[in-house]
Amino acid sequence: MRYLILSDIHANWEALQAVRAHVRRKRFDRVVFLGDAVGYGASPNRVLDWLRSQGDNLITVRGNHDRVCAGLDSAEHFNRYARQAAEWTLNCLEERNLEFLKSFLGGPVELEEGVAACHGSSVDEDAYIFSAYDAQLAFAATPQSLILFGHTHVPSLFMLREDNGKQTLKVRLLTGRRLVLDLDPENRYLINPGSVGQPRDRDPRAGYAILDSSQRRIYLYRVTYRTSVTRRRILNAGLPPVLGDRLLYGA
Ligand code: ZN
Repeated sequence: MRYLILSDIHANWEALQAVRAHVRRKRFDRVVFLGDAVGYGASPNRVLDWLRSQGDNLITVRGNHDRVCAGLDSAEHFNRYARQAAEWTLNCLEERNLEFLKSFLGGPVELEEGVAACHGSSVDEDAYIFSAYDAQLAFAATPQSLILFGHTHVPSLFMLREDNGKQTLKVRLLTGRRLVLDLDPENRYLINPGSVGQPRDRDPRAGYAILDSSQRRIYLYRVTYRTSVTRRRILNAGLPPVLGDRLLYGA
């Protein structure tokens, strides 16, 4: 099975369009979305319309912004920019998209035997996986050998290897325009494909991945899009300017 893996789109239509153009000639059977469709960006309805249009081909987990922007959770843990954006989003969501957003379920979900998807961590959908310790907790919480996650907006890999009862954990940041990783069946992996709509690794390009589960291979890509157009739309919508500015730097 081949999966298109998208995460953290954050209502950035231009970034999603660039990814859609990039995958046009690539083959995939399913779309897996790791959460945070909305929040921060100016195009929540367009992004949700597109996700909805994937129908039964879409497997999704909810993100913290999805919950708050759908009015299912309070914004008290958000900084003031995220809170402003969440209020703006809830106000402008069309009814069918609000219902769709509310239907997102918390992870982890199993895509097939041995492969799971979650937003933050398999131990807690709101937890971040930045460190080896965070990764240990996530590995311990689920049995799968590959766990896809988002939430940090940083393309990264954690690899757990067991040799004669001794565990070693490797951490790697995944950079560059195209990266191919072969997954060793002896190891376990946590992989973040990066963020489509708000990268935070100082690379402003949209990030996504394609997983070929039968080949045990994952392809990671970064795609250029016109960040200045997205920034302008954020300003025109009356959203906090910082949410547009950060896209120019991938920060
Ligand atoms: Zn996010």
